[in-house]
Amino acid sequence: MSTLERHPQELDLLGAGLPGAVARIVPERVVPLGGPRGMEVTRTIPERSLPTIGAWCFLDQAGPAPYVSHLLPHPHIGLQTVSWLIEGTIMHRDTVGSVAEIRPGQLNLMTSGRGIAHSEFTLGDEPAPLHLLQLWIALPEESRWQAPHFEQHSDLPVASGDCWSATVLMGEFDGAVSPAATYSPLVGAEVRVEPFGQARLPLRPDFEHGVLAAVGEVVVEGTSLGSGPLLYLGADRETLTIQAGAEGAVVLLLGGRPLGEDLVMWWNFVGRTHEEIAEAREDWEAGADRFGPPIAHHEGARIPAPPLPTVRLTPRRRRPPEVPQ
Ligand code: MN
Repeated sequence: MSTLERHPQELDLLGAGLPGAVARIVPERVVPLGGPRGMEVTRTIPERSLPTIGAWCFLDQAGPAPYVSHLLPHPHIGLQTVSWLIEGTIMHRDTVGSVAEIRPGQLNLMTSGRGIAHSEFTLGDEPAPLHLLQLWIALPEESRWQAPHFEQHSDLPVASGDCWSATVLMGEFDGAVSPAATYSPLVGAEVRVEPFGQARLPLRPDFEHGVLAAVGEVVVEGTSLGSGPLLYLGADRETLTIQAGAEGAVVLLLGGRPLGEDLVMWWNFVGRTHEEIAEAREDWEAGADRFGPPIAHHEGARIPAPPLPTVRLTPRRRRPPEVPQ
């Protein structure tokens, strides 16, 4: 995924202290992605009051809807991208030589380390049904300068209980451990709840958590959650109750411990200082080796970086949520 908001804002990604158990709706906002055939997505994090959940620092949802999207090569630093499809197919190409089709049930995980570029295309030139969740995970200091690499996992572990099952994308959930590389304590799982089921999920109380209802409407600990927004749940929870309706539900569960590092995020970069971000931008614009060789398929086409804002990028702490008037 690429973020191409017209005026990319500096975003506050400093993990503040963990709150106790809360239940707060974070509304989604519509964001156009880059390029003439980029797609429109809904984004929930980062936002001012909630820049991260654990090290998860970005959550976009595309669809469910017919899409044709040709997202040209664009760079990343300091993060992992997690692509998870509920419906449809995406072709991923990157500057470490990966060419991979991603389909539902397969995890695509790209670890940018110090720098990588990739493209993401839907197949063909006609709109086709797509439902995509794409997330970023900020890399901690000790692993953010590593060499870039790409993983695809088709055989993910599944935890289950009465009327629910959870495919573990990242980290560990209820004893099931994903084979995907992680660099901080976190969990990402796709939870399926049977029609009219009331799932009681075990949580780690030392993690903060959030849930997104990807398919179906649910009631989470008494709070109704439909398609679009994220429900932030805070920490200090040992269980989570999710009730599904007549069609059942597919829910994305995210959790983790904040990195506790000053993070500066701008465009497709996660860094620590203004200078780092500015350097990454210059490197991309200059076609520097840092981001690898051109991706052959695209014949040099790429998404240019937007101009830096006129103010310095600085990390800031989480802000209290705005109180509706
Ligand atoms: Mn991307």
